[in-house]
Amino acid sequence: MKIFRNQEAAFKDWIARHSDDGYLLNCVKGKAGTGWPYMLHRADCNRFTTLNRRSGQNFTTHQYYKVCSTKMADLISWAKRERGENVPKCKVCL
Ligand SMILES: [Zn+2]
Repeated sequence: MKIFRNQEAAFKDWIARHSDDGYLLNCVKGKAGTGWPYMLHRADCNRFTTLNRRSGQNFTTHQYYKVCSTKMADLISWAKRERGENVPKCKVCL
């Protein structure tokens, strides 16, 4: 499992290499249990293949960071430890 914070190039490299078998959690920075719910996606979800047109980077900078793994169960249990609740799944890709 890998956590990407302010690492745009490394994150994009990871989802490119794991487009077939990877999953990611889209997380809001902040204290555990605060902010918006985390969301579980496939690595090839089309929400992460387009760039913020103004900055060219918006995946792991600003308010978001990503937790990536090839094991969906690992991400679900990590999110449960962080937030104490079941993580919702993206309706587009899962
Ligand atoms: Zn998705």
